[in-house]
Amino acid sequence: MTFERVISQSRLDTLMAREVKTYESRTPKSRKAFDQAGSVLLNGVPMPWMGDWGTAYPLFMSHAGGNRITDIDGNEYIDFCLGDTGAMFGHSPAPTAEAVTRQVQRGITTMLPTEDAAWVGQELKSRFGLPFWQVAMTATEANRYVIRICRTLTKRPKILVFNECYHGSIDEALVHMEPDGELALRSPYDINPGIPKDALTRVVEFNDIEALEEALGHEDVACVLAEPVMTNCGMVLPATGYHEKLREVCTRTGTLLIIDETHIQSSGPGGYTAANSLEPDFVTLGKCIAGGIPVAVYGFTAQVAQDINRSFGHKGVADPMGIGGTLSGNAFAVNAMKATLEHVATPEAFERMIRGGNLMADGLEAIIEKHGLPWSVTRCGARAELQFVPDQPVCGSQAKAAFDWPMIYYTHLFLVNRGLMITPFHNMMLVPPMATDDDINALISGWDDCMAALS
Ligand code: PMP
Repeated sequence: MTFERVISQSRLDTLMAREVKTYESRTPKSRKAFDQAGSVLLNGVPMPWMGDWGTAYPLFMSHAGGNRITDIDGNEYIDFCLGDTGAMFGHSPAPTAEAVTRQVQRGITTMLPTEDAAWVGQELKSRFGLPFWQVAMTATEANRYVIRICRTLTKRPKILVFNECYHGSIDEALVHMEPDGELALRSPYDINPGIPKDALTRVVEFNDIEALEEALGHEDVACVLAEPVMTNCGMVLPATGYHEKLREVCTRTGTLLIIDETHIQSSGPGGYTAANSLEPDFVTLGKCIAGGIPVAVYGFTAQVAQDINRSFGHKGVADPMGIGGTLSGNAFAVNAMKATLEHVATPEAFERMIRGGNLMADGLEAIIEKHGLPWSVTRCGARAELQFVPDQPVCGSQAKAAFDWPMIYYTHLFLVNRGLMITPFHNMMLVPPMATDDDINALISGWDDCMAALS
């Protein structure tokens, strides 16, 4: 499955040139800020991916609140990117902002636990169904810690991931499988010569049970690290019964199962796990759990808790699990998480988000049909992805083959120039609780105009 271009390259170049001109005329201050930053920041940005929006220079942000972002030129954007889920409940939610303003004056980090942490653990337990919880700072970190625990518990070296997944900057998970099954670096740029790609990782396609059984049959895999719905290569839904089978094969082969909810927690208060009665050994999530303040968590079963204490002991040796992060779980971070869970990430907020997500996906499907385009929409909860292929991809390599970069850059720029922001690098859109029907209709109408320009 690969994309079919609905427009010639030369016509796309002409349309793109027009949008670039509009962008430059709307954003002179961003251009200036970028040029100045280039003298001290690599490529003018503080993180490499901030330079990857497909524009000659990124927008520089002035301020953000709710589902609106304002750039330093004063342009306002309705936000469906939401910091790639970090701001899923909207920017600077008031209860979180108020709580951290208070806490920041009452001690930020002390190496001591606070009572808030147990409240958070109890809340996460009731949402996700897993009885024990730990705090990390980012989802990357949570995944790393959990992988480390799984290796120790199983005494196995490898992890298994799905082709074209993303779970953060974790060397073992940044492995890509070529069509001939060979493992390779994820991109020519992702070169970490110290990490042997096949010694630590097995990779199979999502939804391929046979390949999974074969790979886990070697009994050298400590854990499967899985997004329940793939969301970083476009979106890929699990086939009916896939998760039951995944659980069963993991159990049969003594492999631990980690469900990474970092993105797909947009499925409900207990993520995709609770919404679909999954039974993982671990759940990891981060990003929006403290309203965008860097906090992540991982939860696990009573059996895992028991095995950890048997393997590592729980007293007497500082940091026996080799899990670090001086600032993780500090008073400030945990308080931000409590405020967010209690007052922001409420069941009512998820209801609004999911209703809005469906409205958005319905609208996108309707205009694709209206314009007769060979494109599709994949939806899950508050999130949807527009893919440049007629049928929903069933695995990562199919989804990745639908990436038409010039089209991605063009459509995103078209939307940005009309005050609409979606997730960069692919066409994922997320609906926050405060998005009105008018906001969602503005997005659909922006895509409608974009499709009309392309037709
Ligand atoms: N897991 C998933 C599924 C993700 O999409 C990401 C980031 N996009 C991460 C983990 C890592 O999150 P962070 O960059 O906040 O550590």
